[in-house]
Parts: sequence; C-alpha cells; structure tokens
Amino acid sequence: MSVHLYFLGTGGWVAPASRTCMSIALKVDENIYLFDVGEGSFKNFQKSKLNPLNIKAVFITHIHGDHILSLPTYIANLAVFGYSKVLKIISPEWIKETIRSLLKLTTNLKIKIDLKYLSGYNGELAYDDEKIKVWSYRAKHVSEALMYKVSVKNKLTILYTGDTSPNSVLETEAGKVDVLIHDASFMQGFEKLAHNTGHSTISDAIKLALKAKVRKLILTHVGFILNLPKTFKIDNISVYVPKDLDVITLMDEK
Ligand SMILES: [Zn+2]
Ligand SMILES: [Zn+2]
Repeated sequence: MSVHLYFLGTGGWVAPASRTCMSIALKVDENIYLFDVGEGSFKNFQKSKLNPLNIKAVFITHIHGDHILSLPTYIANLAVFGYSKVLKIISPEWIKETIRSLLKLTTNLKIKIDLKYLSGYNGELAYDDEKIKVWSYRAKHVSEALMYKVSVKNKLTILYTGDTSPNSVLETEAGKVDVLIHDASFMQGFEKLAHNTGHSTISDAIKLALKAKVRKLILTHVGFILNLPKTFKIDNISVYVPKDLDVITLMDEK
C-alpha cells in the first residue's frame, strides 16, 4: 500500500504569491481524496500530474473561499474528462446553500454527485470505503468549521485541522493520530491575533504536537513566515513546512 500527501495549496487568502489557497490531496494507492479545494488550487492539481478520474471524494472544512472556491473548476474539468464515478462531496450542513450555489456555476457540465452534509457533532462518521474511514470534529474558527480525522485502514491515522485556534477537541483527537496537519497561519508571538481570527501560530502547533506525541507534524495555511526550514526535528517529531506541489510519502510498501 502507498499513502502520499500532495500539497496543492498551502496558504490562506492572505499569503505569499508562492502559496495557493488550501488544498491537500491524500492519495491511497490509486484513490485520491481532496481535503479542501481553495481558490486556484485546481491548477496545482493539474501540475501535480494526478489523474482527476481517480478522485473519490472531496471533504470541505468550512465556507471560506480559500477552502472551497475551486469546487466548480473541478466539476467542470471532471465533466469534460468524462468522469463516470459518483463524486462524493462531504461538507458541513450549515454551508449547504453555498455548496449548491457553487455547483450551479457549472451549468450544463454535469457529473454524478453524492452530497453528504455533516451535522457537526464530534466523532460523526463522514466517509467510509475500502481504503479509508473519516470522522469530523468541530474546529474553533471565526465561522463554524470542521476538522477531519482519517484512518487509512489498519495503517495510519491523520488529523487535518483546517482553520482553527487551539481547542480541547483538537487536543484530544491529536493525541490519537500519527500525523497532524495543523493550521500555522501566524508566527510565534502573534497568538492573540491568531486566536482572535480563529487561527493558530507555529508554536501552538508545535506545543500540541509535543503533547500529543504525533510522529509527523505538517504546518499548513501558512502566512508570511520567515526563515523556517522545510523540515526540522523537535524531539522525536518530524516537522514539515511543505510548499505548493510538495509531496510527503507516509507509506510506500510494495
Ligand atoms: Zn483559511
Ligand atoms: Zn477560514
């Protein structure tokens, strides 16, 4: 089994020019699962040479455009490329109308879509297939938002926080996973600003990773962070600060 993370977008709306808005593709063998599809991130999907016909599901954390505005672009391209599967779109139910409006932007370009809306209680089952199982949890953001915990069956677990400030649910769930993909919108020292805007700092993410004893910490939704190496170690934790189009291999067993 092989498990890879493709970083299609690693920034928020306010980020350096080199960072497109948030989107991560989890590739388990041939299957592709997208976590957020931020504005402009489809171009990086194309550059990554992933096969769009292998997309199985799209998971949306919240309403902000730096997480959802590429959705119609995906639908249009999948329709043109002859996508014949049923695309699952999983999102919080409180943004139902927005998702419907986004899907209307692709008039006459239709593919089969199975929309699943999550009511937002902690530990809600979001998705289950032969490769992965996904649960959702509440984040702490300026709009209501979700985090997703993924189990690549019997192999490893990943928690993607989306946009969030530190919170007790995150603390509990981070303690149960191998890989933590964490909001790192601000530099250390900007905690007040970060938390007031529903985000985290690099040091919030590192503190949590140490407490939770994760194996890998991946910092995303990166703003204007200076002089940070792409990878470094803190205790036994490997920390990554991926750029757009970077790929992290979590498992590659032939
Ligand atoms: Zn964001
Ligand atoms: Zn947001």
